[in-house]
Parts: sequence; structure tokens; C-alpha cells
Amino acid sequence: MPVSGLPPYDDANIFARILRGEIPAKKVYEDEWALAFHDIAPQAPVHVLVIPKGRYCSFADFSASASDAEIGGFVRAVGKVARDLGLEAPGYRLLANMGEHSGQEVPHLHVHLFAGRPLGRMIPSA
Ligand code: 5GP
Repeated sequence: MPVSGLPPYDDANIFARILRGEIPAKKVYEDEWALAFHDIAPQAPVHVLVIPKGRYCSFADFSASASDAEIGGFVRAVGKVARDLGLEAPGYRLLANMGEHSGQEVPHLHVHLFAGRPLGRMIPSA
């Protein structure tokens, strides 16, 4: 059920196509709830995307409509990917873009996991 005020989920978005196996991705991890894969245009030595398997376009949508199992499964998958990639000690950044001002390109909820070098300021100064 779409959340009021949010756009409907677009089944043609690129991550939906990756989930359906229509286009390839370099998979890092997959379970019942989430898929992690390398970003096609990495912005850090490690740049992995983690997406829930359900049809959610944003955090607002996910938090309002996903089941507790989906939410728990996704959060656990993000943590597992970071641990399995050995990122806890050097550190890493999680980032999620939502909507126009964030520059979100793909309307399927995803978190970016950046690592592999000092990552600098969280956002550029205005
Ligand atoms: P956003 O700007 O929506 O937060 O991030 C979308 C990300 O998806 C970008 O970093 C972009 O490089 C990545 N991306 C776009 N198309 C593809 C694709 O076909 N495959 C993969 N692996 N990543 C993609």
C-alpha cells in the first residue's frame, strides 16, 4: 500500500531490474531480505550498495510499510556486509539519499557503504 504523499514504486527502476536478474550486478551478499552489490561508478575504494528486496522507494516508505522482519533483515544485512568486508576497524560511512535535494537517482531504497580511505567531510559546505 503506497504511503500518502509519496510517489508510487516504479518497477522499471534499475535496482528492481537487478533484483529480477534482468541486468547483472557484482554481488557482495544476498539473503531473504537484502541484496548488496558494488556500485557501478564507485566513489571510494569500497562502494557497496545495500537494498531491501521489497518494493520501497524511500526510508519513509520502508519504515511505514515494511514488516518488522523486512526492516530487521535489512538492517542486519547492512551490518553483516560491513563486518564481512572488514570495515569496522578502519571505519566506513553509510549514506542514503532520499528525494530531489539529496540527488537520489534510483527510486528504490538503498544505502551506500563507502570505505577504503579517509572520507572527508560528511557533506560539502554550502
Ligand atoms: P543515489 O544517487 O540514488 O543515492 O545512488 C544511486 C547509485 O546507483 C549511484 O551511485 C550509481 O552509480 C549507482 N548505479 C546506477 N545504476 C547502476 C547499475 O546499473 N548498477 C550498479 N551496480 N549501480 C548503479
